Amino acid sequence: MGDLKGFLKVKREPAVHRPVAERKKDYQEVSLLRTAKHSQDQASRCMDCGTPFCHSGCPIGNYIPEWNDFIFHNQWDKALALLDANNNLPEITGRICPALCEYACVLGINDEPVTIRENELDIIEYAFRKKILSPKPPRKRTGKKIAIVGSGPAGLVCADQLNSAGNSVTVFEKDDAIGGILRFGIPEFKLEKNILERRIDILSKEGIKFRAKVNVGSDYPVKKLKAEFDAICLACGSRIPRDLPLEGRGLKGIHFAMDYLIQSNKRIRGDRIAKDDLIDALGKRVVVIGGGDTGADCVGVAHRQKAKSILQIELMPKPASCRTKDYPWPKYPMIFKSSSSHEEGGERDWSVLTKKFIGDLGRVKKLSCVKVELVKGNSGCPLMHEIKGSEFEVDADLIILALGFLHPEKKGLIEELALDLDPRGNVKTNDDFMTSSSSVFSCGDMRRGQSLVVWAISEGRRAAHYIDKYLNGESSLAII
Ligand SMILES: Cc1cc2nc3c(=O)[nH]c(=O)nc-3n(C[C@H](O)[C@H](O)[C@H](O)COP(=O)(O)OP(=O)(O)OC[C@H]3O[C@@H](n4cnc5c(N)ncnc54)[C@H](O)[C@@H]3O)c2cc1C
Ligand code: SF4
Repeated sequence: MGDLKGFLKVKREPAVHRPVAERKKDYQEVSLLRTAKHSQDQASRCMDCGTPFCHSGCPIGNYIPEWNDFIFHNQWDKALALLDANNNLPEITGRICPALCEYACVLGINDEPVTIRENELDIIEYAFRKKILSPKPPRKRTGKKIAIVGSGPAGLVCADQLNSAGNSVTVFEKDDAIGGILRFGIPEFKLEKNILERRIDILSKEGIKFRAKVNVGSDYPVKKLKAEFDAICLACGSRIPRDLPLEGRGLKGIHFAMDYLIQSNKRIRGDRIAKDDLIDALGKRVVVIGGGDTGADCVGVAHRQKAKSILQIELMPKPASCRTKDYPWPKYPMIFKSSSSHEEGGERDWSVLTKKFIGDLGRVKKLSCVKVELVKGNSGCPLMHEIKGSEFEVDADLIILALGFLHPEKKGLIEELALDLDPRGNVKTNDDFMTSSSSVFSCGDMRRGQSLVVWAISEGRRAAHYIDKYLNGESSLAII
């Protein structure tokens, strides 16, 4: 603990966001990096508690109090070594992690928590700026060959770990570029793609082979892959979207969030989209159905495409603004949150049930809705009731469905390998991450269901440990 009274003297100061008027004109990152001095001041707030709950709040068990102390003492190299021990992608989590750790920070009980996520980002950006992060290929190779299918965070991290242990790793990706949702789902204003390139460049130099535009199970038979590699790890994500099969769903102008976000990211990269396939909010009245983070990303994109109006609606009631008794500290709470996209304008509404889509000449024009409330059913469980007389319509030229994801794609890989699935339709594995098909492992959203980057990192690291152990008899790769 650098400064015994740091938490008494210094107030929480998160990173500054660029002004709304400026950032809505471009797709560059909203958040500005902090200065080293700013980070040191913020790190001084860490109380170095005897039992650091933040550490267990983080799914990858980052050594938070320890690196806060090193930041405070200007020992950035030591902070980096500790960060690197648990987190393969700190420049990503440092930008977009919902910081589960901060909700478990002891200082958060009676003050605002330490800016842990931003401290993490400051360490890794210091390392890149000072060029102290160089490729470190393994000294020895084991001779074992592993295929990773899917290049999202789970696949990248699993590849990184296995390669560092000396195995030869090839990552297959069906899209035309590496990164999964980091590349094509998450908008540039949250995560610029050069940040991803920087990491992929290091991984390539360390010896990992990347093969984009290969759809395993379709244009690359799994049997062939099984014959060529000693083990396979499936990290294909969970991308089947939840639909809203109501009257009028077939009207033009209603799209899934991922189709909208993927196209937006590809257009920013310079791709040309055929006129008939274009999904653009310019001058349109946009309604985003679904109040989560994916919906918020769509709101941010619609702002930048100069939508005429934006409304985001959510079925569930508006969450409380602070912890309720259902979410005592240090639990990650369901509380009202606003993203940088919400700071930029538009409206939000809660407890809204969509009843049908109304169109004209084949295009959507309106949304018919009703307000709902939660009432106690006979069993004591809450039931959703429509409120009589609360029906209303909303004008809409573009509707984005951001209702979450059901499970991974079953056609192709899963069917070909006849993999067992869990009750939610995700790939089932044993405790060692092996699927029902021998020498085939799985990790990330494909196994866990749609989740978070930090969980994909945790999954990738754990799967790598078990794959390494399976192939080489033992593994020195960290398990967390
Ligand atoms: C819009 C959106 C925004 C999000 N924002 C955040 C955020 O801000 N913070 C956060 O922590 N989490 C966020 N998440 C969640 C997070 O991105 C995911 O949990 C994470 O990307 C899962 O990683 P993954 O590697 O398991 O899967 P994915 O990232 O989905 O990657 C899977 C990859 O596998 C490839 N693939 C699939 N099948 C095949 C095949 N047969 N052959 C070859 N390749 C294949 C896919 O093309 C894809 O590239 C967001 C999710 C979405 C959808
Ligand atoms: S990865 Fe997320 S939960 Fe873990 S320390 Fe970083 S911000 Fe916190």
